Amino acid sequence: MATRIEGRVLRRGDYHYESRRREACWHSAVPERYPEVIVLANNEDDVVAAVQLAREGGLQIAVRSGGHSWSGSHLRDGTVLIDLSNLRHVAVDKEAMTATAQPGIKGSELNTLLAEQDLFFPTGHCTGVSIGGYLLQGGFAWAGRDYGPACMSVTGIDVVTANGERVHADETQNADLFWAARGAGPGFFAVVTRFYVKLYSRRRVTMNSGYFWPAPFAQDVYRFVHEIGRRTPTEINLMCVRDPMTNHEPLIALNATAFTDTEEEAREQLAVYESCPARSHVLTTRLNEVSDTGTLSRVGTDPHYDETKRYLADNMWTHASFDDLWPNFEAMLKTWPPAPSHMVVFNWGYEGQPERPSMAYSVEDDVYYGLYAAWTDPADDQRYTRWVTDHMRAWEPFASGIQLADENLVNRPYRFVTDENLRRLDTHRAAWDPEGLFVSWLGRPVLRTDAADTGEVPVAGASD
Ligand SMILES: Cc1cc2nc3c(=O)[nH]c(=O)nc-3n(C[C@H](O)[C@H](O)[C@H](O)COP(=O)(O)OP(=O)(O)OC[C@H]3O[C@@H](n4cnc5c(N)ncnc54)[C@H](O)[C@@H]3O)c2cc1C
Repeated sequence: MATRIEGRVLRRGDYHYESRRREACWHSAVPERYPEVIVLANNEDDVVAAVQLAREGGLQIAVRSGGHSWSGSHLRDGTVLIDLSNLRHVAVDKEAMTATAQPGIKGSELNTLLAEQDLFFPTGHCTGVSIGGYLLQGGFAWAGRDYGPACMSVTGIDVVTANGERVHADETQNADLFWAARGAGPGFFAVVTRFYVKLYSRRRVTMNSGYFWPAPFAQDVYRFVHEIGRRTPTEINLMCVRDPMTNHEPLIALNATAFTDTEEEAREQLAVYESCPARSHVLTTRLNEVSDTGTLSRVGTDPHYDETKRYLADNMWTHASFDDLWPNFEAMLKTWPPAPSHMVVFNWGYEGQPERPSMAYSVEDDVYYGLYAAWTDPADDQRYTRWVTDHMRAWEPFASGIQLADENLVNRPYRFVTDENLRRLDTHRAAWDPEGLFVSWLGRPVLRTDAADTGEVPVAGASD
């Protein structure tokens, strides 16, 4: 196979192949799936050449931007893996409040650049996440409730298609491809080399309050969060994790953040947490601290994501009452895995949320539960995979779907877009990638109409 690629090309068996394959996954449970070729693209022409390389070699294509897929969705057998981590160019038009950004840039880097100009883009809670995979699957951001999933702030994309063509897609040209790019996530069927995005004015004040309880008060705290989640304009990050503060028993940490223009307004918004029924039992608090999202990521979020550990994530959207969720949670608390394993709950549904456009992203709800097990020994893989998967399965009667950000599709395929949108994605894929060059989701739910009997949300099935 001859190549015209300026960047690095590593074939299976090459000296640096295995280290690069391992580095392609952000944590240490690297899946036993082996691309035939890894192409580290230097530019968009390299992407076109990599697509040709796959076609000539009869291989499929997988794409990586930042490698933060928990399941290593980009590591697939029999593929050319196109790694876009070197495509990192950003151009900001302050007056127009727009930018173009390549997929390899990290959200935190983008926001640091924007902050210098008093601008803002809704990027993820962790410092390391690149915008490529993040924007394709939706994008759950700091202050995200005010803007909707971050893909709503994407106005166009440049892509390389399955036949190696470079095309632009937006609301007016190649609109079906643009529709799919906002929500298809790891099931997208082209390579995005550039995003066109809307920017926002940066709110002046980011204020955070933290409350910490031992697990026996969990029920009161979670019920309170479910009750106020929709009506508070503040963003709730409710975490359960073993912690030294509770002698390594599960700790319940409620962090609430207000994004406002004045400190007074932020303090008013955060005052609601003083009415939590478990307030008097709190171990400690940090109240009304002025901060910024970079600091909140570094101090509050990043320490829970240790790349030397093995991870499995799973999640659900729900609007159930917490009392329905409590029995499973109570059981989980008795077998909670060691730190940094944790569960995070966000409030998402919001009276004032912006109207959603037509896009593939279509499943969301009032409250989000993300469950993350982290461990060290490969001998524990099955144990923790079961712990996460079985507990999330136990909550299925109360779930309206999952988010692709924290998907566990290989073990538990579950509804991530509406049935109608899943069919529409299949149709667009057939048109843009008729030979199935691009790999798809690691698993997919069975459509309701394909399920033989019930009207329940069905599960199971794998796409590749
Ligand atoms: C520690 C951690 C924290 C996270 N925090 C958040 C958060 O706060 N909010 C949130 O919404 N999500 C979060 N996520 C989830 C994260 O957004 C997704 O895993 C996302 O896919 C990561 O982006 P990436 O570029 O690193 O993806 P990659 O792992 O590189 O790619 C994931 C998949 O996306 C597709 N893809 C990626 N780039 C392209 C491209 N340019 N063109 C075509 N297809 C592409 C591929 O199919 C690939 O398999 C977090 C994940 C981790 C591990």
